[in-house]
Amino acid sequence: MIFPAPKKELRAFQADLHIHTCLSPCGDWEMGPVNIIEKSRQMNLDIIAVCDHNTAENADAVMKAGKKGGIAVLPGLEICSREEVHILSVFNELPQATAMQEFVYRHLKGENTPEIFGHQVIADQNNIVKGENEKLLIGATDLGILEIVDRIHVLGGLGIAAHIDRKVFSIIQQLGFIPSDIPLDGVELSPFAGPAYDRNQYPGAEKFPVITSSDAHFPADIGKVRTIFFISEPTISEIRLALTRQNGRKAEV
Ligand SMILES: [Zn+2]
Ligand SMILES: [Zn+2]
Repeated sequence: MIFPAPKKELRAFQADLHIHTCLSPCGDWEMGPVNIIEKSRQMNLDIIAVCDHNTAENADAVMKAGKKGGIAVLPGLEICSREEVHILSVFNELPQATAMQEFVYRHLKGENTPEIFGHQVIADQNNIVKGENEKLLIGATDLGILEIVDRIHVLGGLGIAAHIDRKVFSIIQQLGFIPSDIPLDGVELSPFAGPAYDRNQYPGAEKFPVITSSDAHFPADIGKVRTIFFISEPTISEIRLALTRQNGRKAEV
């Protein structure tokens, strides 16, 4: 006899999928793993993604802190393309993010000057400083947007055009539109976009699902804006279903 798989209950998950840590040169010193999880709890978030500039070296620590604090943490990176466009990559598991990081590192040149760009602090899950990353994380890779999104998909992640409403490092600002041949999983609005989102303002955006996230570099900004996913569990496959509105899943901003 074949029994049907138990039907999973859907519920609303409050998500902020774009949070920096103290590893980003522009990330505040207070953005240690423990603080990020504490603030996420205060803000009633269920899911966060750690997306530092061109690196995922603090993702493990935040994931561990999240496990302790009851917040689902997805590992990711905010990758800067050679067109100077920021692309969010978000994964289920750390090895996928680490593989993406290795790919990015091979295409990222230069060394950081902390006095100019800021310190890049690697921390453990208890906020203990382990060291500093010496790469020029704030720099651009020599990878094209399409190459980045393709690699994200090979590794099973989501590729989202970051803060398309912003005047810096956004696909709209740099290219003037979103090319239709880039298989993005979504586009992100920053807290600056405001509530009156008009897709017509963003040429090419109309065919992509929309999320909003904080792009927090300071604890006070975590969860300032968010996306609500109606899903059964905090996984990439469920979020993907929500973005494409399948099996009753959906995303609301
Ligand atoms: Zn950015
Ligand atoms: Zn960012």
